[in-house]
This record gives sequence, C-alpha cells and structure tokens, in this order.
Amino acid sequence: MDRQDTDILISGGGVAGLTAAAAFGSAGFRVICVDPAPPVTEEGAAGADLRTTAFLQPARDLLDRAGLWDRLAPFAAPLQVMRIVDAGGEVSEPRVTRDFNAADISDAPFGWNLSNWLLRREMVARLGELDTVDFRAGVGFKSLLTREGEALVTLSDGAQVRARLVIAADGRDSPVRHAVGIDVKTTRYGQKAVTFAVTHDAPHDNVSTEVHRTGGPFTLVPLPDLDGKPCSAVVWMEHGPAAQRLAALDTAAFEAEATARSAGTYGPLTLASRRMVWPIISQRADRMSAERVALVAEAAHVVPPIGAQGLNMSLADMTCLLDLALERRADLGDRKMLDAYHARRHPEVVLRVKGVDALNRASIAGSPMLRDLRAKGIEALYSVAPLRKTLMQMGLGAKGHNT
Ligand SMILES: Cc1cc2nc3c(=O)[nH]c(=O)nc-3n(C[C@H](O)[C@H](O)[C@H](O)COP(=O)(O)OP(=O)(O)OC[C@H]3O[C@@H](n4cnc5c(N)ncnc54)[C@H](O)[C@@H]3O)c2cc1C
Repeated sequence: MDRQDTDILISGGGVAGLTAAAAFGSAGFRVICVDPAPPVTEEGAAGADLRTTAFLQPARDLLDRAGLWDRLAPFAAPLQVMRIVDAGGEVSEPRVTRDFNAADISDAPFGWNLSNWLLRREMVARLGELDTVDFRAGVGFKSLLTREGEALVTLSDGAQVRARLVIAADGRDSPVRHAVGIDVKTTRYGQKAVTFAVTHDAPHDNVSTEVHRTGGPFTLVPLPDLDGKPCSAVVWMEHGPAAQRLAALDTAAFEAEATARSAGTYGPLTLASRRMVWPIISQRADRMSAERVALVAEAAHVVPPIGAQGLNMSLADMTCLLDLALERRADLGDRKMLDAYHARRHPEVVLRVKGVDALNRASIAGSPMLRDLRAKGIEALYSVAPLRKTLMQMGLGAKGHNT
C-alpha cells in the first residue's frame, strides 16, 4: 500500500483530538486525524457523551484560532460566579457559602459551559470546512516506528502514514503512549462520578455551585434554559458503590436524593437527561514527549472533575504545541521543539494534578473533624482578598509565579 505524507498525525478524535485537528488545520498544517470510534453528534443517539465541559477564559483564544468559537458561542452558558458551599455538618445544609466572582479579576466570565455531544457536532462540521484536515472516523492507530526525521505510522486498516509529528490525543489508556514506552503514575480513589442534567424553578443566575459534604463534590453548572425552565448540568462524585446505587435508583428516588445532596441550592431538582457513570482517577505521564511524538490531554494527564481543569489543561497543551510549531514551521516535530514542549508543560501538569488531587481528597473527607477543617479552610482562603484573587487566576490557568 502507498505511504501517505502529512505534517501531523493525530491519534484520537475525542474533544481534545478534534480541537487539535481544527487548530493545526486552521494554521495551515496538513493533518490526518484518526479514531476507531466515530463521534456521536446527536444528543439522543446511543453512546452520546451527555457530560458538559466548562471552558475557562484562556480556552476561548485557542477555540478562536481553531475557527470554533463562533460556532460554539450561541450554545454556551456563561459562568460568572463560582460558589463553594460546605454542607459537611450533621445535616445536608449549607454552613459556609463563599462566592468567587469573575468581576473581581476581569470583565469576562470565568468561562462558558457547553454540552460534549454538541462540541463533537460543531467540531466535526468545522473539520469539514478545512481542506488541510483528513478526518478518518472508524480507523485507529495501530503501531509506529520513529526516526530522527519522521514517524512511520500504521493504521488499523493497514494504511501507512509518514508524519513529521504524531499527536497522541487517544485518551487515558493511550495506545501511542504505550507504543513509545512512556510510563504513568496513577492514583485511584475508589470514586465515581454520576453525571446528568436537571431543571429547577430557581434561576441559576450563571452561578456554578460546588457543594461539599462527603464522597466528593456535587457540582451544578449552568446550562441554557430547557423548555423555558432553568437547567444545570450536575457532576456528583461519590464512593464507587454509592455512585452505582444512585445511578440505579428509580427517577423519583434519585431526584429526592439529588435534591437533598444539593443542600437546597435551587429547590427540588427534576432529572432532565439519562444518568452516566464515570470512573475517577488522577494520572500523569512521566514525559510529555518522545521522538516525533507529543502527548496531549488525557494521554498525558487525567484529573478528577473539580474546578473544570481537565480539558482546559489539554487546551493549554495544544496552545503551547501550536505556538512552538508556528515559531519554527520548517522544524515541526524535531527534538528541539518537543523538548521545549515537555519543559514548558510538564512542571505545570505535575502541579495541577497535585492541586486537584488535594482538593478531591479534602472533598472526600468523611470524618466530622476533617469536614470541619475543610469548612475553616474555605473561610480562611476566601477572607484574604489578594489570595482569593490569586486562586481565581490560577484556577483559570495562570502559573503560580505570574500571579
Ligand atoms: C464527569 C466528568 C466531567 C468533566 N468535566 C469537565 C469540565 O467541565 N471541564 C474540563 O475542562 N474538563 C472536564 N472533564 C475532563 C474532560 O472531559 C476530559 O479531559 C476530556 O473529555 C478528555 O478528552 P480526550 O479527548 O483527551 O480523551 P477521550 O475523550 O477519552 O478521547 C480519546 C479518544 O481516543 C480514541 N482512541 C482510542 N484508541 C484509539 C486508537 N487506537 N487510535 C485512535 N484513537 C483512539 C477514543 O475512541 C476516543 O475518542 C470532565 C471529566 C469527567 C469524567
């Protein structure tokens, strides 16, 4: 079979891989993107990803460069306030509530929330507009051989591709990462997340609310109204068996437990979607790159869904990689570029994975003493205005030393 030449081979067409394909394709690089699982682009279809993603402020710039933001903006719900509620007392009711308002640090909201199935629909449509991008759904990465000047990739349909750079966006069990022998450090919490959408009578006023009690946070993130009713996406983290039990409850019993766990945030919650269950881990790769290969997104790092860090870290990976590629177009994927990518991103990834791990452990806390400590911690962090602002800026992606 003929060997095809391209600038970039992207393994993985999840939200991260599709964004990378749009970003590099828009910048004029020739891209082949492969994924054995064709993207599900309709909300009601089997296998649709019904989670939502909160894109934080810095993500918008990359989405713009990828020609995606104008497509996504009409469906995005702004996030103006991040509310932290500690409901860790004897009964499930708020005992500490603190609002972090984006207006304290900028004119724009913290970010925008979008449905994952809709992201896939708009991203695939964008790739269709780019003659630089060849998106092959139903075909996967199989193996690779690298040399100093190129990577030779074999795909699952037997096709062979010669690329200057391979981007691994093929998820937490990344086949490309395995192929190049990069190890990971994994932390398991015995925790799962139940995700679903709810409607409620009280408006959300663009406030995202994290309610901490035990087992992990219960997070309500604003969505656009559904059939004229205020609507929110929920990520409910719990110990594994408890999460499985919740997912199997009948609707009325589930709604009653969700309303109680929300500590009365918006009054009674009405289930407005299917429920899905996701395993929760932390993981980071020992390196972000190998010869002719860059790891991005969950191939490089996985964090529990707290503070909307996951995909936003991934977009920071891609921004860094794209900037490096544009600085020295002719040397795309060479050792200098990939060493610089590792050096710029890895310390930041290590720091963020550790930070989110600590937040998750604080939220899991079961004993009354640890829960009291957490409540005091939230109050203390909040009461010092400069610290509060620094935390907000870091949450958005600023590095510690810049703030
Ligand atoms: C409950 C929950 C809520 C979240 N909420 C947020 C949020 O609000 N904000 C945020 O920033 N992040 C959030 N995240 C994290 C975010 O969802 C992930 O970072 C993101 O979905 C990971 O995307 P990915 O493309 O790296 O991986 P995946 O979505 O796993 O995509 C990997 C792709 O690789 C493909 N693949 C597998 N094998 C091969 C192969 N051999 N060849 C080619 N392709 C292959 C798979 O088919 C898949 O499509 C959340 C995560 C969870 C679990």
